[in-house]
Amino acid sequence: MKRFSICLIILAIFIYLSNAQIINKLPLSDRVTGYRIDVNLDTGSKTVNGNMEAFWVNKSSDTVPDIRMHLYMNAFRSNRTTYYTEMRGSPGNKDSDLGWIEISSFTDENGVDLLPLMEYISPDDGNKEDKTVIRILLPEPAMPGDTISVKIDFETKLASRIRRTGFTDDFYFVAQWFPKFGVYEAAGMRYAVKGAWNCHQFHATSEFYSNHSVYDVTLNLPTEYVTGSGGKLISEKDDGEMKTLTWRAEDIVDFAWTAWPGYSVFTDRWKNVDITLLIPGNRVKQVERQFTAVKNALEYLDQNVGPYPWPHLTFVDPPSIGSGAGGMEYTTLFTSASSTIMPDWLHMPEMVTVHEFGHAYFMGILASNEFEEPWLDEGVNSYWEERIMDNYYSSKSGLINHRLLKVSDKSSARIAYTRSPARQVVSNNEYSWKYPHGTYSMMSYQKTATWLHTLTGIIGEETMNNVFREYYRKWAFRHPSGKDFIDVVNVVVRMEHGDRFGSDMNWFFDQTLYGSGICDYKVSGISNRKYHKPEGKADSVDAVAMEWPNTDSLYTVVAMLERIGDVMLPVDVLIHFTNGDEILEKWDGKERYKDFTYTGYREIEWVKIDPEFRIAMDVNYINNSFTLEPQRAPLHRLVNRILAFIQFFFSIMLL
Ligand SMILES: [Zn+2]
Repeated sequence: MKRFSICLIILAIFIYLSNAQIINKLPLSDRVTGYRIDVNLDTGSKTVNGNMEAFWVNKSSDTVPDIRMHLYMNAFRSNRTTYYTEMRGSPGNKDSDLGWIEISSFTDENGVDLLPLMEYISPDDGNKEDKTVIRILLPEPAMPGDTISVKIDFETKLASRIRRTGFTDDFYFVAQWFPKFGVYEAAGMRYAVKGAWNCHQFHATSEFYSNHSVYDVTLNLPTEYVTGSGGKLISEKDDGEMKTLTWRAEDIVDFAWTAWPGYSVFTDRWKNVDITLLIPGNRVKQVERQFTAVKNALEYLDQNVGPYPWPHLTFVDPPSIGSGAGGMEYTTLFTSASSTIMPDWLHMPEMVTVHEFGHAYFMGILASNEFEEPWLDEGVNSYWEERIMDNYYSSKSGLINHRLLKVSDKSSARIAYTRSPARQVVSNNEYSWKYPHGTYSMMSYQKTATWLHTLTGIIGEETMNNVFREYYRKWAFRHPSGKDFIDVVNVVVRMEHGDRFGSDMNWFFDQTLYGSGICDYKVSGISNRKYHKPEGKADSVDAVAMEWPNTDSLYTVVAMLERIGDVMLPVDVLIHFTNGDEILEKWDGKERYKDFTYTGYREIEWVKIDPEFRIAMDVNYINNSFTLEPQRAPLHRLVNRILAFIQFFFSIMLL
């Protein structure tokens, strides 16, 4: 009895401590870096100024002589930065248009001045006008296991034209705004041959790469501003004119925040996740749609990939004056896009919400290097966005559900890929900003999503889900590379299918991710010929006649297929006969020409390659089927052709 009451007391204490969050769970990440930032928003000068303490732990076995940090906001300093040179644009001419970040003090934890040891470097292009990366030579190199702590005073001027970050009037969206560590890659991590800093400049067509960090951010700003951030609000003090907010975020890769007096704030909850939505007051009609969309995405990714690991989530629907901030992700904070009038049949806001939320997984949890392998984030995330949209908003009309036009989300990306002149681009290029002829988005979004759907068609949806479950389990918070993803695919496919697809799936990735070929299969014709009886001197027994005694009504029929593209993928072929019989053939898709020949009392009526549309990469579905037309009047034939085309058009829109 006594022992029992002690147990109860211990249990009660444990429950109290858990609820009070005194007993913390183990950190999600290894927290190589951390930031404590204390700043003011000066709404007059459009600056964010203050100080920060930050640390980097040398978790490698290297002796590291320096540290490197991003000063992203300097991309908006002039039209000669790498960002604006690549954009062929300008941040504007006036001082108020420009964005920049200045460091006025930089010391180590002992107060040693590091400012004289700081230099701007441009590792990507040598552009001296680009000041988006700094290198600080350490007075003493960082030995394995050392923690380098720094104190920095800085001022960030926000740019007036919001390109993801900046201000318009009294609307602020503040991202890439503080000095931020690059990623030190030890030898063997990703593609690093020897240990080195991976700290790229700010580019026009690239996103980011960061360590998972802990953020404690204190912001002082005028009271009338409504704010949101990627952190959990820890405290709020208000002295009437100004207020001070403190947020904490754990194990996220970026910290962004927004402030605008016009926001209305709504909250909801999914499982243990507190969801906050900031939206202009005149868009309250969109609130329910937005919450439903984000909860759909939470549920689907939880079921098919892995759990959402943070207890909070904030998303923002920026006002029209801040639309340049829309559609962007910062792990536990993301931005959507909608408007006051948004017809029910157009699921655009839902699509943006589902997409940007999905980045919490592929940019936030897995956190691959977007500078170097953007497809691992944007392409993989687009694939899941399309699956989520078509799952919750109808497989035939996930994106547009109008009585006159229905478009699935998957088909919209597929059509963009198959109709694009850039469809032959290799998905895995050296660097995001080096994609030729503006092919970055085709490569990182639509082509990758389309080959991921194709892979799903080949190995099956449940195996694909298991691939992602394993990818998440093995690589969450560990920055996987493309090779790591392929290794997971190979292991899971082999475990579930043996050698049905060969010893590995590299043949698939060589052609799709690393290849520039297109996939196009065609039914080139049907041949139905009466059986050709042997004539003349018969030297052997007619084996066919033995099997099919009534040779007068016997046919030799052939389905003639062709591989037009260079990509070789296994395809199903459905052959339909005049008597209603059907045969489903498997073709490995390797030969240029392939015939399926049959003998019997039946003719072929039509042939379809890939009848279930598994091979989304096939750039032309029109030539995938062939129907032998019965003799009819020409007008009848013309009407049939038009009807067939309309039917085809709708079928591609519905896929
Ligand atoms: Zn995206």
